[in-house]
Amino acid sequence: MTFKNTKAFAEELDNKDELKEFRNEFYFPQHNGENKIYFTGNSLGLQPKKGKAALQQELDDWAKYGVDGHFEAKNPWFSYHEIFKANLAEVVGANPLEVTPMGGLTSNLHFLMVSFYQPKGKRVKLLCEGKAFPSDQYALETQVRFHGLEPEDTIVELHPRDGERGIRKEDILAKIEELGDELALVMIGGVNYYTGQVFPMKEITEAGHAVGAIVGFDLAHAFGNVKLELHNWGVDFAAWCSYKYLNSGPGSIAGIYVHERHSEDTNLQRFAGWWGTPAEDRFQMTKGFVPAAGADAWQLSNAPVLSMAVHKVALELHLKAGVDRLIEKQKKLTSYLEFILTDISDRLPAVNFTVITPRERGSQLSILTEGSGKELFNKMTEQGVVADWREPNVIRVAPVPIYNSFTDVFNFGQIIEKSLEELK
Ligand SMILES: *Cc1c(COP(=O)(O)O)cnc(C)c1O
Repeated sequence: MTFKNTKAFAEELDNKDELKEFRNEFYFPQHNGENKIYFTGNSLGLQPKKGKAALQQELDDWAKYGVDGHFEAKNPWFSYHEIFKANLAEVVGANPLEVTPMGGLTSNLHFLMVSFYQPKGKRVKLLCEGKAFPSDQYALETQVRFHGLEPEDTIVELHPRDGERGIRKEDILAKIEELGDELALVMIGGVNYYTGQVFPMKEITEAGHAVGAIVGFDLAHAFGNVKLELHNWGVDFAAWCSYKYLNSGPGSIAGIYVHERHSEDTNLQRFAGWWGTPAEDRFQMTKGFVPAAGADAWQLSNAPVLSMAVHKVALELHLKAGVDRLIEKQKKLTSYLEFILTDISDRLPAVNFTVITPRERGSQLSILTEGSGKELFNKMTEQGVVADWREPNVIRVAPVPIYNSFTDVFNFGQIIEKSLEELK
């Protein structure tokens, strides 16, 4: 499709957009009485208007029933996590047995690695992406130390070739093959948080399995953003957070996926809790941990219903819009953003920014700035753009298909031009 950098063209795309009504389901922070251009859904998604009522329902049931809300509430808290299974399964491409909402992302990564990072003999190496999100780096480093190993000898990082932005697929697969029977675990982001690169999860999983390794993904930037088929790809485990593309609120409940092939494995190590036992045993308070079937076995604590209430409506909204329709709009929206950025840098030769996100991408574009990048960012912010700045010199922008419009993208371009003009 040929794009145009005009208001009329952007409005026409919005008019034709089947998902345009979903924008009204969210609260936008305001700037001079207008919606801000909110391009940070990759960090914290906007609040769904239905969140308040969902939260109020649980507060009311708590007021009305006290402890009996576990069984008497409209959505009984005892089995609250079960409400999510079908919907989570749809978002990540799994069966309901394989997913459960629980805990926080980083703590879940630790719990999953307790089960799935079992270094033995020469099979101790852990392969990850270079420039992984710091929390993931700390998690991997401390897991390795927990097993009495040294991170420097054990963690292998993947990097782009000199002068390139993305990590090539063939380089990832070659590294997996090279590590061979020394490789215990591949643990990579589904989408790199910094560059926005989407990794070839299916091929990585196949290559990892071919050398006898376990393969897990951190889906923080992939969940609700790119097409996932975890079950069919054969991925062993994955974890995500719900407050980025899934709009479930700051620090809201995270989630995990574990392939059903591990469901019956009673030899897996785990750090268990009472919510990981079968529902019928949960209040028996008996000695000796017996795992529930599927991903539920990794649950530790009873459901944090207040944060899950917002997650519930956010997830319902996401599926009402539809995974495939959202991805289709996402591709168009991000391509339009790329077009606008290219148009600006073509017309204003002095412009000092480049998009470093490779072709394999989701919503996010990362813009590498040189020289006065921080000033440009500050100017944009003053004019109602919410983007984010990553040191030393990258601006990340992510138009989110469920609530951003093509007009947002056009207006964003106008603001960049104006800011560049002022910075001259
Ligand atoms: C956002 C993000 C996190 C945040 O972890 P929390 O435990 O939710 O605070 C971790 N890893 C990646 C890759 C992220 O993008």
